[in-house]
Amino acid sequence: MTVGIVVVSHSRALADAAVALAGEMLHGGGGPLEVAAGLDGGGFGTDAVAISEAVAAADAGDGVVVLMDLGSAVLSAELALEMVDDDVRGRVVLCPAPLVEGLIVAVVSAAGGAPATEVAQEASDALLAKSGHLGAAPDEAAPEQVVTDTEETGTFTVGMPHGLHARPAAQLVGALRGLDADVRLRNVSLDGPEVSGASLSRVATLGALQGHEIAVRAAGTDAAEAVRRLLALAADDFGESALPVAVPSPVPVGHPIPASPGIGIGPVRATGTVSVTVPEPVPGDQHGRLDDARSSVRDHLRAVRDRAAREIGAAEAAIFDAQVLLLDDPEVLADVGTRLDAGTDAARAWADALDDVAGGLAGAADEYLRARAADVRDVRDQVLRALGGVAAAQGAGEGILVADELTPAEAAVLDPASTPAVVLAGSSPTAHAAILLRARGVPAVVGVGAALAGRAREAAVLAVDGSAGEVVVDPDPATLADFRARAEALGRHREEASRLVHEPAVTRDGTTVLVGVNVGSPADATAGVGADLAGLVRTEFGFLDRREAPSVDEQEAAYRAIGKAMDGRRITLRTLDVGGDKPLDYLPMPVEANPFLGVRGIRLALARPQLLADQLQAIVRVAHDHPVDVMFPMVAGVDELAAARRALDEAVETVGRGRPADLRVGIMVEVPAAALKAAAFAPDVDFFSIGTNDLTQYTLAAERGNDAVAALADALDPGVLALIKATADGAGDHVLVAVCGELAGDEQAAALLVGLGVRELSVAPGSVATVKQAVRDVDLAKARELAAAALACPDAAAVRALLR
Ligand code: PEP
Ligand code: MG
Repeated sequence: MTVGIVVVSHSRALADAAVALAGEMLHGGGGPLEVAAGLDGGGFGTDAVAISEAVAAADAGDGVVVLMDLGSAVLSAELALEMVDDDVRGRVVLCPAPLVEGLIVAVVSAAGGAPATEVAQEASDALLAKSGHLGAAPDEAAPEQVVTDTEETGTFTVGMPHGLHARPAAQLVGALRGLDADVRLRNVSLDGPEVSGASLSRVATLGALQGHEIAVRAAGTDAAEAVRRLLALAADDFGESALPVAVPSPVPVGHPIPASPGIGIGPVRATGTVSVTVPEPVPGDQHGRLDDARSSVRDHLRAVRDRAAREIGAAEAAIFDAQVLLLDDPEVLADVGTRLDAGTDAARAWADALDDVAGGLAGAADEYLRARAADVRDVRDQVLRALGGVAAAQGAGEGILVADELTPAEAAVLDPASTPAVVLAGSSPTAHAAILLRARGVPAVVGVGAALAGRAREAAVLAVDGSAGEVVVDPDPATLADFRARAEALGRHREEASRLVHEPAVTRDGTTVLVGVNVGSPADATAGVGADLAGLVRTEFGFLDRREAPSVDEQEAAYRAIGKAMDGRRITLRTLDVGGDKPLDYLPMPVEANPFLGVRGIRLALARPQLLADQLQAIVRVAHDHPVDVMFPMVAGVDELAAARRALDEAVETVGRGRPADLRVGIMVEVPAAALKAAAFAPDVDFFSIGTNDLTQYTLAAERGNDAVAALADALDPGVLALIKATADGAGDHVLVAVCGELAGDEQAAALLVGLGVRELSVAPGSVATVKQAVRDVDLAKARELAAAALACPDAAAVRALLR
């Protein structure tokens, strides 16, 4: 059952925001959802034609629920119904629910497979939770009698940090659907009334927060099964533990982990959020000054956002979208405008208005909302800086930052010029903040633990080596001199590397190792000065943040732009690598308990043949004019490769110009089984590109990005190295072996990888020069000895010691 939903509003912005908010409940899944809001020129209003088109688009045959805001929206929707086909009209329910609350309940209910009438009823009851909380619970929430002859009971405790919110509540309701059981739930901790487990709206009125005890009572022939299912769901935290939850991870005991190379020496900066002084009033047009400052911050945030989307992922980049929204929030601007009109200067008006917003959030009951206050302060400070404000006293703006954790937003706005290094008690090298710090050239050591971080906070001076993972508290003169010498040597090394960046990377004994650049956009390709090729083009960036998949023409244009930026050098176009934890709005997928082990990469592409066919067609068109590699991600079996190759052959036929002469085919080796079966794949590929980011998480069973297992997920683990060796051994002579995961950009690992048989390293744009330079220091015979020694090491720490 796939019920479509249409949102009708006078305001496009309101509708989009409501849809985004509702999307949060689903973590990316959900059925057809269409918006008909605002007028063509951007003004407020509703348009019956647009609504009728939205209804037709949302109708997949199982009905459509239309939610409207006020007044003429209802009239327009009624008019729109006159315009749709008779059979469609019969399936449409115009729902009187409040737009925001109703939409949230409706999408969850529809995703749970409820029919249209039930979705509409649930949406209409959506205010029950709010009115119950505010003391005006309607009569319907009163307990109803249950037939008790075959009664079963049980209790569970809510384990999820955000309580039994809409998503787990939807799971609960969904689990009971189809059972012959009348199930009643009661929040024992609040001594609340019983509600029906069949109604999402009623379940929401439980007000079940983390730690609350919920009593279950069921009657009917399936009563036992109903209770069993609910208790099993609850024991699994309703699948929430598999989802990314924005709660801080505990600070580990820690062992310092290198996270961003480079040397930093300096005083310690006050930890926590760095506040910025409110600058003195400057005469002139205060509205204009503020508009200019906001505009420059907006440009900056968008640039950071684009970069984060490429290097980290769309979900994290959304933080910056939220900040841009705040910058332009009409409520905030109205408040600021009132203050300006009253004679307050731009900086003070902005600071006070944003302090009010942050203050409101900081007092919220919900921990997640409280944490968002830091994002608001971030925006406040950025605009104040643009208006001439400076970091507050106590050395806050200068020096080595010591903190427990760093959010990506904080990492993105750190000024590398005034931050010689970052030391974090927690976090991991694959955390988004660490990736941003690397991208920005700020040396960092993470996971140092609470004890060392505590001593570092008390220190006058710190010396940090981000390559070696060393943090020295109050170094003595000899140590200080040693770190200064390391910094100078590193500076010289980087200068030399830049001078030679256009030269090929050839080992001392004459083996050429290709050094490629990993790109998500033409800008990355341009930044990858000196790269021999684009060894990984993450094409999924062209598919994210859209309402529909890009057309063949659009994709062709995007790939041509990257080819042009590479100026004739080969581009390795990886086919769409989404799914699992990177869902696409227009590709509804069931929520998966273990998305990294689910339908992602080539699995998703093969499940959506048209998506793959279109992309391959665009790739083939470009391959007629530019040297192109096509690369399939997340391949686990030879049949997947065979199917993908067949799709490629069909795309060649569709384009109709014969097979492009220089089109090569390869797979990413990211699944341990693929590494071990390399010889089986070898006859059908031109190259293997090892994705060490994913290969590491699958080998060590340690999810990438999960701080709690960061120390385990080390690409230098001998287990991962053995799989790289297996890939190279299985490849034979005719298949080039590349590495395009983060490990390729680690200069210290270059000799080891070459020794294991790797002949191409594809790295972030900023690492091309230094990785080429590292290759030039390699002696193949010694590198092979090093590789053998590393394979015999017990763990990653021993391998790292060997590399040093
Ligand atoms: C990898 O897994 O190493 C890789 C390069 O792919 P991505 O990081 O895009 O998953
Ligand atoms: Mg990968």
